[in-house]
Amino acid sequence: MAGDTPELDVVEQVLDWFHDAWDPDLPLLDWRDRLVESGWAVPSWAPDWYGRGLPAWADRVAHAAIRGAGGVATPLGVGMMLAAPTIHEYADDDLEQQLLRPTLTGEYVWCQLFSEPGAGSDLAGLKATAVRDGDTWVVNGQKVWTTSADHADLGLLVARTDWDVPKHAGLTYFAIDMRQPGVAARPIRQMNEHQSFNEVFLTDARVPHDHVLGSVGDGWRVARATLAHERSFSVLRSTSFAPRAAGRVVDEARAEAAEYLKTYEWYPQRAGRPDLLAERSQASGRSADAVVRQRMMVVHELQQASQWTADRAKAARELGRPPGSEGSIGKLALSEVARRSHVAHTAIAGAQGMLRSGHDPLDAVVAEVLVSTPAQSIAGGTDEIQKNILGEHMLGLPREPSVDRSIPFKDVGRSEPRGTRHD
Ligand SMILES: Cc1cc2nc3c(=O)[nH]c(=O)nc-3n(C[C@H](O)[C@H](O)[C@H](O)COP(=O)(O)OP(=O)(O)OC[C@H]3O[C@@H](n4cnc5c(N)ncnc54)[C@H](O)[C@@H]3O)c2cc1C
Repeated sequence: MAGDTPELDVVEQVLDWFHDAWDPDLPLLDWRDRLVESGWAVPSWAPDWYGRGLPAWADRVAHAAIRGAGGVATPLGVGMMLAAPTIHEYADDDLEQQLLRPTLTGEYVWCQLFSEPGAGSDLAGLKATAVRDGDTWVVNGQKVWTTSADHADLGLLVARTDWDVPKHAGLTYFAIDMRQPGVAARPIRQMNEHQSFNEVFLTDARVPHDHVLGSVGDGWRVARATLAHERSFSVLRSTSFAPRAAGRVVDEARAEAAEYLKTYEWYPQRAGRPDLLAERSQASGRSADAVVRQRMMVVHELQQASQWTADRAKAARELGRPPGSEGSIGKLALSEVARRSHVAHTAIAGAQGMLRSGHDPLDAVVAEVLVSTPAQSIAGGTDEIQKNILGEHMLGLPREPSVDRSIPFKDVGRSEPRGTRHD
């Protein structure tokens, strides 16, 4: 990029293209097709793959410029944030050709089929099994906590394909069609009464061999890449359009965002709603209380420090560096903000914080905060797991002791009766 102001150059180029290309009366998918075709959906990717070969920061700058000009940028969610980069990095050309464009346009909704009832933190200990049958793989097993599985078109699936090697070596990563008879998603009702995730039962579900990402047995490496993207991804980062934009494209993007946010409507409460603390303390007349003030200040300090870490991580990503330990630090910081904010809301509201209705509609929001914040330190890898990652990768501490890393997975002791299909 020439010049001293590369961001402004990118803005100028994307707006030149946008003013010619923008047609507010197009259907949303047709507009996104145009966007993908132009290279401005993911300008940091190579020109052969819907990009323009620009630095990583150009994605953010281009999307902001398009939104700012009243247009619609790429979709939100797991497809764009996890599936697209994983496919781009690990799918072969044919699969990439097949899956990328409809993922970038938002036509395909994705979910992440990683966790199982006995394998969350110990993801490499998963047991859902894929067995090859000619050109397809037949998958059996159960996944759990799968956000959006009940309305996803495709799933990022990690399954065991070899029980005779140690646990990390026997996994394969697939893109599986969720709309087939062998896949059943059953929503789980949470203690905050939302239903954003599911149990998923895979019964002789089929995946074509050409839907393997990476190679057979290399699923752990691919899964780690997805997880690294997940740690640096915020589901509620922004919308794909400016609030005051208008036209058919925008109306459809607004409907798409509303549908998407239904799943995530409790996520702000999960994050602790620190933004409500000052207002709630004043409304309740407790803003002069020394304990309340101290608790609110702790949240503020943590938020500031974690914002700087997030900015540092973003700057590193925009310089083209792979996601690193900042993702784990940032994730830990968000858990701490949520926890401390929960404590501050409790100090402000007292027992009233448990009421789901009251004089003020925000009472229900605070009640939801109190039952939603525990999820913040679990989703995407628990706090303890982030600490293990930081200990090993940043501090160089010895790996935590483990008895099952080097023996064939079929020989690892487990509670299920012997004689099951895997023994
Ligand atoms: C809101 C939400 C959305 C989610 N969405 C998805 C999704 O879309 N797809 C998906 O696949 N999964 C999803 N998950 C699941 C999530 O990834 C798992 O819950 C998480 O990885 C923890 O696994 P687990 O629940 O099995 O807990 P466990 O692994 O059983 O952990 C239980 C406790 O033991 C601790 N622990 C475990 N191992 C260690 C260790 N080695 N050292 C120290 N402490 C340890 C944990 O920190 C935790 O406190 C979601 C979870 C939530 C809360």
